[in-house]
Amino acid sequence: MSRSISILGSTGSIGCSTLDLVTQHPEKFDVVVLTAHSNVDLLVKQARDHQPKLAVIGREDLLSDLRLGLEGTGISVAAGLSGLKEAAQYPSDFVMAGIVGAAGLAPTLEAVRRGATIGLANKECLVSAGDIFMSEVTASGATLLPVDSEHNAIFQVFDFSRPEFVEKITLTASGGPFLSMPLAQLKEVTPAQAVKHPNWDMGQKISVDSATLMNKGLEVIEAWYLFPVFKEQIEVVIHPQSVIHSLVSYIDGSVLAQLGSPDMRTPISFAMNWPERMTSDAETLNLAAIGTLQFEGPDLTRFPALKIAREALQTGGAAPTILNAANEVAVEGFLGGQLSFLDIPYVVEDVMGKIDAKHLSCLADVHEIDRNSRAVAQETVASRKIQKV
Ligand code: NAD
Ligand code: MG
Repeated sequence: MSRSISILGSTGSIGCSTLDLVTQHPEKFDVVVLTAHSNVDLLVKQARDHQPKLAVIGREDLLSDLRLGLEGTGISVAAGLSGLKEAAQYPSDFVMAGIVGAAGLAPTLEAVRRGATIGLANKECLVSAGDIFMSEVTASGATLLPVDSEHNAIFQVFDFSRPEFVEKITLTASGGPFLSMPLAQLKEVTPAQAVKHPNWDMGQKISVDSATLMNKGLEVIEAWYLFPVFKEQIEVVIHPQSVIHSLVSYIDGSVLAQLGSPDMRTPISFAMNWPERMTSDAETLNLAAIGTLQFEGPDLTRFPALKIAREALQTGGAAPTILNAANEVAVEGFLGGQLSFLDIPYVVEDVMGKIDAKHLSCLADVHEIDRNSRAVAQETVASRKIQKV
């Protein structure tokens, strides 16, 4: 029998890779829900190709375009936050959480609340509301399968039955496109350069996060929520080839890792068909052709975002929520040409210094802190605004 699947964020990089796997294995999957934010044309095309029961567009002003595009197909349409929640609530065997940013939190939580099996690509929901998110997972009995390549790698080699034998986990980081660029030049880099990742083809936000190393900081926080380890047991190493996706070290000196070509279809396929494996069309890893694997420690002077994120995890409470919101605004400012690359961590640190990292007791607290952090971050971005001549 085929597995019914919902894809939240189907028009993005993760969403398109998920649909590619559906196309490779039509007998295994039945797409029932697709959602997108604003790309109606692609959503209509995907819906016409895959015939879901429901297609949802985030932007309400685009609902009539979506309705028109799917006229005569019998596919239901909806829009806005209520539509996205409805999409997540729709009964299905598997949900791909592929929306980017804290915008993915509310829909993903709806899937959690119905006890769904979720392929978790969206890391911001764990960063922004980790405690609340994980307690909802426990309460509902939802199954979380990490899709982020590092966390998927650790999931594959972590002995969950004997966590006391784990000495540490090590997340690998490619280092992004500016790994060896001197500080003086980093000031001048453009959005076009920043989104051109050397190994992975990803959405704009995560590509900029990879370039600042904030992505690895977000992933340290994500790892802390997903795996039974202490904060001090999570390490980061730069590995420019992105062949080793992450490692688990055991107390006897054994180190287990998951390797593969840098292709998100491997971790996505692992989650979609879990606990069975299936082919993904990812290129076979050819170590002899690669020849050399390199490693180095992260440079926290040129890439302070990783340090800032670690501090947020250490502080706890609302600190990671503030970090995430400020970073989203700063990345947007950089992509919009308002902010220089080096100002991204500056904005995040500035906002973290201005907002109290109070204890978060409910989702309303998260939303309030998220909103306030964004407002303060907008002010900071405006004050740092690049003067166009
Ligand atoms: P993307 O920008 O390519 O796609 C994002 C998707 O989310 C799109 O379908 C878009 O329509 C939707 N979306 C954006 N804003 C929205 C909003 N406000 N409301 C509803 N929907 C919205 O991003 P991506 O690269 O596919 O990344 C998605 C998530 O997966 C991110 O959290 C990212 O960190 C994580 N992730 C991605 C990769 C990757 O290789 N792309 C790897 C690991 C983790
Ligand atoms: Mg990753």
